[in-house]
Amino acid sequence: MPHKLVILDRDGTINRASEEFVKSPEEWHPLPGALEAISRLNHAGYHVVLATNQSGLGRGLIDMAALNAVHAHMCKSLAALGGRIDAIFYCPHTADDACTCRKPWPGLFNQIAERYGVSLQGVPCIGDSLRDMQAAEAAGCVPHLVCTGRHPDLMGRELPAGFPAMTRVHANLADCVDHLLGAAPLSKPVAA
Ligand SMILES: [Mg+2]
Ligand SMILES: [Zn+2]
Repeated sequence: MPHKLVILDRDGTINRASEEFVKSPEEWHPLPGALEAISRLNHAGYHVVLATNQSGLGRGLIDMAALNAVHAHMCKSLAALGGRIDAIFYCPHTADDACTCRKPWPGLFNQIAERYGVSLQGVPCIGDSLRDMQAAEAAGCVPHLVCTGRHPDLMGRELPAGFPAMTRVHANLADCVDHLLGAAPLSKPVAA
């Protein structure tokens, strides 16, 4: 890896995912230890970049000003803990738009590779959903699943069909970062 880079999902990975979209800073609630974990990555020399599906934009549930306000709040909360997100790549489309950037498609990842001028081969990608893992695999990243969102019950369990065989499972972002920084034993790879 020429560049120490980690790609993160947002909802269900950094902040609580809700049935409703996060439409305002007041609705954005970080998961316990998540911001501290990003800060630890930064201090270990990692650049942290977000890749997030935000179909609320395409559905008219949130506008750019509100999304920017949510992200400003997130970055400020993170900065208070000494952390930094370098860039936020988002897909504004809905499933019906048939774009190539909505995860599980790897378009956002390709944008990241282009922006940083690096290969994403072996870059850790952390998310809470199947489509995060599929997009990561398609982009050549190493998929890490956290059980703080769509799949709360997958710790120590066999992964459902569709997950990349190389998917590693962690309880939460803090545990995943411990693993990446070598502070915890490897989580068991789960056979497909
Ligand atoms: Mg998510
Ligand atoms: Zn898109």
